[in-house]
Amino acid sequence: MAKDDDFAGRVLAWWDVHGRKDLPWQHPRTPYRVWVSEVMLQQTRANTVVPYFERFVAAFPTVHDLASADPDRVLHLWSGLGYYARARNLHEAARRLAARPATDAFPREVAGWMELPGVGRSTAGAVVAQAFGERASILDANVRRVLARHHRVEGSVASSSAQTELWRLAEHHTPTQRVADYTQAIMDLGATVCRSAKPICDACPVQDTCAAHATGEEAQFPHRSPRKSARRLERRRFFVITAGDLVLLEKRPANGVWGGLWSPPERREDEPLDECLPRLGVELATVAETTHAAPFRHGFSHYDLDVLPVYVHLTRLPAEVRDGASLRWARRDDALGLSAVAAKLIAPTEPTQRSLLETDP
Ligand code: SF4
Repeated sequence: MAKDDDFAGRVLAWWDVHGRKDLPWQHPRTPYRVWVSEVMLQQTRANTVVPYFERFVAAFPTVHDLASADPDRVLHLWSGLGYYARARNLHEAARRLAARPATDAFPREVAGWMELPGVGRSTAGAVVAQAFGERASILDANVRRVLARHHRVEGSVASSSAQTELWRLAEHHTPTQRVADYTQAIMDLGATVCRSAKPICDACPVQDTCAAHATGEEAQFPHRSPRKSARRLERRRFFVITAGDLVLLEKRPANGVWGGLWSPPERREDEPLDECLPRLGVELATVAETTHAAPFRHGFSHYDLDVLPVYVHLTRLPAEVRDGASLRWARRDDALGLSAVAAKLIAPTEPTQRSLLETDP
């Protein structure tokens, strides 16, 4: 095995030939654009992020535009990207940044970024390195994988001992020159070559010094966390209540799944329909048809949710429309923040597989 020297130089030389240089946040690489992209890239692949990023910065070109934006519009532009706490934190952080003096709007150090909601050490390092070219390290999932394999870092990557060692290595390899390019390069290497499954070691610029490759143990690194208990399964009922071309939406609590997004109201499965509907302002006499559509499953990181859709068609809007902070009648194409599941539920075409047809609640 060759000496573990000039790791960064070899990664940069590889990136100069093979790396991604056309990502929209690289042109121009301003603090605002880099920060937005790094938050979007948390737990999300670059190819998925690109169209969301382009729409988001077109709508909010500056941190001041974002700070003064309507929260629903921010969530609307995030709809489908998932992990919505990221959008809420980004919005709150923009408000704090916009309140600072113009000369001082964006911190130049990792610690300053880490004071903002939704910005951890790796995101802060990525922004400082890419936006200001200052020497700062990152340790996202891609980088963690490269370093854990290259150095055979033992222990679950979630353990504090492995984290300490990985951060030490990340800092050790971060160069003093071309820090912005190196940051993108090491992320690209993890995303495209040192992939989670089937790494392409023959195309890797650090193959000669990779300890896991030397022993054919690429697949054993990084060590996984001990297996968690089995995924749980939940079942929840969602009411898609329509009157003409309007649909009733409910704002979900800020904390919890799909926090702050609008959604067809969710109610317990065992709650009687004729009790639920009046509580949502629906007059039972106006119900024309109730349809229980086929359930479908939606996976979250720790559990699966069986969505039980109930479509309720009304002959007219309630005489007394409860419209406001938590309930509103909206058109299906209104610019509101909807989760992917909510968007699917209120799509113009309802599920065709109907398991039960009722005429009265
Ligand atoms: Fe990853 Fe293979 Fe490169 Fe090692 S040689 S860093 S396992 S791609």
